[in-house]
Amino acid sequence: MMLLVPAIPSFTQAQVITSGPPSCPGVALTFDLCPVRNGTGYDQTLIDYLVEQKIPATFFMSGKWMTKHDRQVKALLQIPFFEVGTHGDVHQHMPFHSAEEQEQEMLGPVRLLNTKYQHDATLFRPPYGEFNDDTVNVARARGLQFVLWNVVSGDPDPTLTAIQIEGRLKRFVRKGSIIVMHANGKGRHTHEVVQDLHQHLLPERNLTPMTVSELLSCGQAAP
Ligand SMILES: [Zn+2]
Repeated sequence: MMLLVPAIPSFTQAQVITSGPPSCPGVALTFDLCPVRNGTGYDQTLIDYLVEQKIPATFFMSGKWMTKHDRQVKALLQIPFFEVGTHGDVHQHMPFHSAEEQEQEMLGPVRLLNTKYQHDATLFRPPYGEFNDDTVNVARARGLQFVLWNVVSGDPDPTLTAIQIEGRLKRFVRKGSIIVMHANGKGRHTHEVVQDLHQHLLPERNLTPMTVSELLSCGQAAP
């Protein structure tokens, strides 16, 4: 009798995180800090709201953004219920580059956070959410957790209204969701949308905001 060989799960899929456990009554609000050409590059109103309301959140900082926002990097790192990961150095399209180039792009902000801010950042989100096998392999070799999302807010789209973004979140947010938004000022309605999430959508569904790390260990017994 021949033994059936089980299908080997795709290596890439197994390494890329898009959500937490579906049984977890939590969601992760995540905010990318991609570099911007115009504007302040920082949504102070949004950050103030998250801090005042003590809402756990995860930020993915690009190296180029960090070099222009030293004060803000320090401020975000100081908040105990915020988590900080990285988002590439200059926001490149990873699949267009060799593994070596991707490694430089990936490690730039990791090193900067480490040397300048004494912060060990282990969460990584590729710019544009784009990657290939090299991206996944390099992140894994460097001990970084590869974090995407399963709910796209669409917040940087200037044609979307707050109501439209909220409608999208209503449709897709559930237990274990990771929501992608922006804190670099590109999301015109992000503050409004987060306020709606916090005051209405999440409490109505008995969902609690968590950092990505909390979400990933959600439901596991304490060691
Ligand atoms: Zn980005």
